[in-house]
Amino acid sequence: MKKFEQMPCARCGEVTAMSAEQLASIRAEVSDFPPLVAGVCPRCMMKDPAMKAEMDAWIAGYKHRLVGKVRGALVRPLEVIDRFVEGLK
Ligand SMILES: [Zn+2]
Repeated sequence: MKKFEQMPCARCGEVTAMSAEQLASIRAEVSDFPPLVAGVCPRCMMKDPAMKAEMDAWIAGYKHRLVGKVRGALVRPLEVIDRFVEGLK
């Protein structure tokens, strides 16, 4: 991944925020990436109701997708064991 210059947050000016170029580069490589806003740090995003709502929705969806992946990973070995047990009968 390419290195980018870090920029100050447009709202608080303190915490490092990501540039539009940096976000575009990350999104090109990571499909399931949070809806971060260029030039605004995550802390300020969570103080903005609209941005927070978007982030909360993404987090809820991410948890759902993660649970689905874990469930899928757990179900497959159980199916293998079931077939093995069936083979013993
Ligand atoms: Zn900020």
